[in-house]
Amino acid sequence: MEFCPECESILHPIKHNKLLCKKCNSSFKLKDGKLILLKKNSSSTKSPKNKEVIERNVKKVRKSNEKRSIFKDKEIKIISNPSQLSNNYLKFFPYSVFRQSQEKIIKQIEENARQRKNILLVAPNGTGKTIIALSALLPIAFESNLKIIYMCRTHSQNARVIKELKKISYFLKKNNIETKVNGLSIRGRNEMCLNKTLLSMKANPKEAMSVCRDLRNNRNCSHFLNLIKKKNELDNPTLISPELFNKPVDAEELIEFCKEKKICPYFLSKFLLEEMKVIICNYQWIFNPGIRENFMKFIGQELQNCLIILDECHNIIDVATDVNSERISPYSLNLCLKDLEMYRSPYKMQEFIDILSDHLNKQKMALKIEEKPIHPEIFVERVYKKLGFSDLNEFKNFIGELYDYSVAIHDEKVSNGEISRDYVGSLAEFWLKWLKVYMLDNYFFCYSNKEIKKKRSIALEIVALDPREIAIPILKQCYGCINLSGTVNPYVFNNLMGLNESGKSYKGIIADSPFEKKNIKALIVEGVDTKRESRNPGMFKKMIEKIDEVLYCTPANVGVFCASYQILKGLLLNGIEAVVNKSKKKLFIEERGLSASENSLIVEDFKSMASNGGAVLLGVCGGRNSEGEDYPGDYMNAVIIAGFPYHLPTPRVKAKIEYYDKVFDKQGWEFAYLYPAIQRANQASGRPIRKLKDKGALVFMDSRFRSQSSWISNWVREELEIIPDKKNAITQNLYPFWNTK
Ligand code: SF4
Repeated sequence: MEFCPECESILHPIKHNKLLCKKCNSSFKLKDGKLILLKKNSSSTKSPKNKEVIERNVKKVRKSNEKRSIFKDKEIKIISNPSQLSNNYLKFFPYSVFRQSQEKIIKQIEENARQRKNILLVAPNGTGKTIIALSALLPIAFESNLKIIYMCRTHSQNARVIKELKKISYFLKKNNIETKVNGLSIRGRNEMCLNKTLLSMKANPKEAMSVCRDLRNNRNCSHFLNLIKKKNELDNPTLISPELFNKPVDAEELIEFCKEKKICPYFLSKFLLEEMKVIICNYQWIFNPGIRENFMKFIGQELQNCLIILDECHNIIDVATDVNSERISPYSLNLCLKDLEMYRSPYKMQEFIDILSDHLNKQKMALKIEEKPIHPEIFVERVYKKLGFSDLNEFKNFIGELYDYSVAIHDEKVSNGEISRDYVGSLAEFWLKWLKVYMLDNYFFCYSNKEIKKKRSIALEIVALDPREIAIPILKQCYGCINLSGTVNPYVFNNLMGLNESGKSYKGIIADSPFEKKNIKALIVEGVDTKRESRNPGMFKKMIEKIDEVLYCTPANVGVFCASYQILKGLLLNGIEAVVNKSKKKLFIEERGLSASENSLIVEDFKSMASNGGAVLLGVCGGRNSEGEDYPGDYMNAVIIAGFPYHLPTPRVKAKIEYYDKVFDKQGWEFAYLYPAIQRANQASGRPIRKLKDKGALVFMDSRFRSQSSWISNWVREELEIIPDKKNAITQNLYPFWNTK
């Protein structure tokens, strides 16, 4: 975009590549990036003095552009005539300046996406990953008639994508470019539904799907009926509100609109999908095979006609194994039994439930550990023998009958106008899966026996170990995939996702750090660790002394993210509260099992203390506060990673190590144990630095970080200093950081 040197208004493109200032009527042409004056406004003269004025104004405009940029190396974007731009990233990049390296990365992504490669971009927050991905992919999406499916983890991340899309849409309109970019962020049924019956049930997504279907079939959901009536009156669902749906719209805006009109937001968003160029959603919509099938039908495109963007792609490793895992518990078995009794099922089916419930309850009493592996073949043999079957085939037939019976129960309930949760169907599906995979080494079978809020709950679990089973078919089918992360290790991610095995070639891009050195202090503190044998009061007290030094130096809020809840408890038992009180900061503790709303109240209070003396948030690595929450500005000046956040080497973790050793050339320990731990530390350490101007201290408080420092995120590793185990060594380092201008 160019500005008029005469009056600083925007110059508009006119015929023959000329630019016109509509305010003062001067016209220009652009040559080699410079504005050449063609016709001045009426009050202008051709005197050399005025020439100087013009040049001075050009400089002024460029300077103001530079001032607007807070980045180290800005690159000015010059658009001669946006409406005549060739179809590339410049057409969709809505800002007048590029951040450091931004244009180079966009070009690389656009070029590689055209070649249908799987791309991984590792870039810290502040690089502008969202606008990079959108402006690089939109030209390809329009050229080849593709949809963009942008997947994120949280609602706030979804909203951020919509915000950037709105900027693009406005930019296109302002420059008279005919291309229209629309987009919609969508949420799950439970988060969009307005039906009181369904909301009161607190159903999981699978149950909610079944309940919603029954409500619709029985014409018991007025929101759905109102929507269908409206939709049938119009040719296109966007006509329900053209002013809202012809531009990018966030789920929150859509829900508000639907509340007012008393129509179902969930189905309205689904009906709109076909009309949308960019769809923003949670990973489950594509990575959960059960959800994907239906979703693609609404989109009206095959996956091969979709470009997918995976934001915070490090999350996908766990998502891809979780969606492929199953569990049953005594609670769900009990509900199955009620259904089977009510619908007078064959006695064998009820006996089956009794055997499983009995067995799980006995294990719950006997187990002193959180997890116990099961040999799946022996287990299933015991079950079918107890049921009186002579071989596995008889049991397989029995499970097939159970599945058919679940369908019959469900149909019966629907015809009676009842709301049903399909517990028997879920149980049958669990056993169908067990029978399908029990001989495979990429699955692990166990009892899990966890204590949450002082209550033990046992479950029988089928745990998928290999994310590639879900990821590779998606990578193969889609047009192309762009993975974005600030912390992921490219080598591990490439292997675990199977990027190289998907039939598409791979392009990794690692961005430089956009942060100024003076704003980041990254320390590895020696002399403390949280190894099992070190966990004694002496070590905890020593750690607290070092935390005390950090609190003393830090002006406002501090996050202390512990390696585990045990370490958190150790710090509490050994006096961290007294140290926090001494620093005149307020202590907030993230407790296990807190609901999302309880937790968000704590975080809000913590943040509010930033301008009120400061506070300490004591939480855990891998928890929602150390990964899903941002603390820009003074909301968190310093973060302490208290201990190396290895998970307990549970049987599940050991099974993963063993399996990865087999399939990833003896790298099981690195991929299944070290990498997830360092990933948790990397995520937590990035919390205070969310914007380019943020200043923060990142303190890795465990000497083991020194030997594993090559795994720490690039942008942090560049700044790392080792702090010896000496009294006041932290203070000597941190105090000047916060107190020198
Ligand atoms: S149709 Fe919509 S409002 Fe009705 S139950 Fe389903 S999701 Fe909820």
